[in-house]
Amino acid sequence: MKITAITAWAQWQPFVDGIYTCSGGRSAAGFDSTLLRVQTDAGLIGWGEYAPLGSFYDPAFVGGAREGLRLLAPLLLGADPQSTGALVRRMDLHLNGHPYAKSALDMACHDIAAQAAGLPLAEALGGRFGETVPLYRSVAQAAPAAMADKARAYVAAGYRRIQIKVGLDVGEDIERMHQVMDVLPAGTVVYADANAAWRPAQAREFLRATRDLAYTFEQPCAGFDENANVRAVCDRPLVLDESIDSLPAFLRAQQARLMDGITIKIARVGGITRTRQLRDLAVECGLGVTIEDTGGAQIDTAAMAHLSLGVPESHRTHTCDFHHWVTVANAQVPLHCAGGQMDAPRLPGLGVTVDPAAFGAPLFDLHAR
Ligand SMILES: [Mg+2]
Repeated sequence: MKITAITAWAQWQPFVDGIYTCSGGRSAAGFDSTLLRVQTDAGLIGWGEYAPLGSFYDPAFVGGAREGLRLLAPLLLGADPQSTGALVRRMDLHLNGHPYAKSALDMACHDIAAQAAGLPLAEALGGRFGETVPLYRSVAQAAPAAMADKARAYVAAGYRRIQIKVGLDVGEDIERMHQVMDVLPAGTVVYADANAAWRPAQAREFLRATRDLAYTFEQPCAGFDENANVRAVCDRPLVLDESIDSLPAFLRAQQARLMDGITIKIARVGGITRTRQLRDLAVECGLGVTIEDTGGAQIDTAAMAHLSLGVPESHRTHTCDFHHWVTVANAQVPLHCAGGQMDAPRLPGLGVTVDPAAFGAPLFDLHAR
């Protein structure tokens, strides 16, 4: 099988809940997504999606992703999309770093490879544990009372896992934790995510003042040494997210017993090939595993769902229904959400049906000669 054409489109995806704010006043009004179609001489079509959370969240941005795709796409024309490992190597050879720019291409090739095998992506990547994955909802940074109202609304909508964004002024964040957790029904699973914004002393102060609350602490600081400093005094589960940007970074953190769980963002590590590697290693290491991404709608959420269902229930934490975070759609897909849980399609590949006519003029439309 050969790749005969690669086409990319932009899609602006406004947030249902308006401006999304995390620590330090960083905010975004939506996802600036890039949609990618890979066509083959076998008639199979694969889809990929990459959407950053603004330009502040990861060392990644939409302009870099689109220029990266313009550079990489010609190198994949004529290649076999089923050779996903070889294609990752080829992309790495020609573009040093920039894993986020490679993610949508890798995703589209996995979509095709799974379709060619006649398998849903979950099964093509090792199988499916159970039928559904729990969903969490982030409560973006705002005044404590407003965050409590938002959390209450998410619980009313069915979410049973709430992530509270902290990482700003420690005193206010302590108040946020108390006000939000006061309105949550018993049994709600709570994460406090500082998005790498604190110095160790701030994280330690937060830990001391919230000792009576039951929550998992996520990514208190940015650097390895800073998080090690916090880990030494953290008597509750600690999850790393932003730090897990590659297999070497994961191995270093695991060797230091730095975390109880990891959050893998598909684009941050370069796509499905590397997400699967990290996922399966983390499970073998006995860690909790969350698989999600930096943004997107139906196409990306389908990938998150397939990969998440490949984590054994004993190790699986949660994921996001990003297609419900935004006001636009980019595919028809049988993703069912109920009771704070989401399933994954049973159709071959990602299981998405896409009508590109809705996306307007492509960013580029490249065909093999
Ligand atoms: Mg996080």
